Amino acid sequence: MTSQTSVKTLLILGASGDLTGRLLLPGLARLVARGHAPGLVLVGAGSDPWTPEQWLERIEESFADENSQAEAYGRRELKRIRESTSYHQLDVTGEGQLAGLLAQLEGPVAVYFALPPRISQLACEALASDRVPAGTRLVMEKPFGSSEESARHLNETLAALVPEDHIHRVDHFLGKATVLNILGLRFANNFLEPVWNREHIEKVEIIFDEDLALEGRARYYDGAGALRDMIQSHLLQIMALMAIEPPASVGERDLRDAVATVLRASSIKAPYARNTRRARYTAGSIDGRKVPDYAKETGVDASRGTETLAEVQVEIDNWRWQGVPFILRSGKALGNKRKEAVVTFRPPPHLPKGFTGVDAPNQLRIGFGPDTLAFDVDVNGPGNVLSLDRATLKAELSASDLLPYGEVLEGILTGDPLLSVRADTAEDCWRIVDPVLKAWARGSVPLQEYPAGTSGPGDWLA
Ligand code: NDP
Repeated sequence: MTSQTSVKTLLILGASGDLTGRLLLPGLARLVARGHAPGLVLVGAGSDPWTPEQWLERIEESFADENSQAEAYGRRELKRIRESTSYHQLDVTGEGQLAGLLAQLEGPVAVYFALPPRISQLACEALASDRVPAGTRLVMEKPFGSSEESARHLNETLAALVPEDHIHRVDHFLGKATVLNILGLRFANNFLEPVWNREHIEKVEIIFDEDLALEGRARYYDGAGALRDMIQSHLLQIMALMAIEPPASVGERDLRDAVATVLRASSIKAPYARNTRRARYTAGSIDGRKVPDYAKETGVDASRGTETLAEVQVEIDNWRWQGVPFILRSGKALGNKRKEAVVTFRPPPHLPKGFTGVDAPNQLRIGFGPDTLAFDVDVNGPGNVLSLDRATLKAELSASDLLPYGEVLEGILTGDPLLSVRADTAEDCWRIVDPVLKAWARGSVPLQEYPAGTSGPGDWLA
């Protein structure tokens, strides 16, 4: 299978970095082996004085798994990428250095900024619009800025270089299949839409509980925390898809307009001590594995008070959702891994007298990675038909044959910005969380503690 690519060269800045080795190159390998990137040339760049052999070695390592599984065509394509690749040493923040490299490459070029965010910003500032060849695509990683103001500044810098539809702000959490699974479920089933509103839905929870702890990523994570790392980006995007109005198409314009509209109506309101919670893990164990106290991990500055578990209640001020809480929670080092959206329906207005037993509300649960669907309903129990019992209807949703970063790269190579965050939305997501970050920095919300391997502080139990 092949797809039309509008990009000739993929230039990865940050060739020696973690993202490139662990996620980008393996994602690219699958994409290439499945025939989604015919004719593509891969170029790496970084500040290290690497030899061509060192770069090739990195590619070989990242391509190894795919190479061993690929069919003859896929292996030929992977070989073609290895044989045509090159590595360039440069300081991307240096005057004219990136522009000079762009001028040498066959276009159109997609420039992937797999760099620390501050370096990406400086690299874009060092580029001048008249030295960016037509058709160039700029790919920005998360975090996109660190506040509404800095995101706006970065947007202005980028807008001066290339048109908005050539800017990809990556949110790898939502693969294409997941986005389309949510939209398919919501808008291809007539029975859901009439109840998908404040009349019938009590609350929506979007939960990403990880059993992984810091895993050596203090340098990044201790400056970010759960609210910035997960909620500000990924979970707000999922919330938007759960809450959007029915779009006329799943094309990027209709869909991203709908997402932007719902996020513009969203906010986290004061008092923050009631509508937000934060906590940090202490020593504990997960599946028999000892986890040290977060505050004592190498590279952590405990006085920063970085949260490893965050929960916020978002309100969407529009007709459909007025008064329905959207609870977004994400944390590390938790006992149970959970990655799902849970829609809790209101109870029936009247349960016919005579029924006994369970009368819990219906819940619809959409699991992410693997994508699943579960619907909890009350049915007549076995034995005594007047006694209600809980049954769960389950389905597995289709998965993509690409890795998450393969899907991201496919969107970039084919010029499809569907999985990319639009400029206004990137700023709006910061507008939603900025007041909470400020309240937390003032100490208005206590930083609670939970032992690693538990489900959070005792009083958070659902
Ligand atoms: P790393 O610190 O591992 O790598 C950064 C890369 O940038 C290195 O290759 C480094 O090369 C290069 N670099 C730094 N300064 C310059 C410069 N002046 N000129 C040229 N190259 C330079 O970072 P990550 O790979 O972890 O992260 C990259 C981006 O991806 C970040 O924005 C991060 O937030 C984002 N991200 C990362 C994820 C991950 O799992 N790693 C997940 C999601 C997003 P050298 O060492 O030679 O200086």
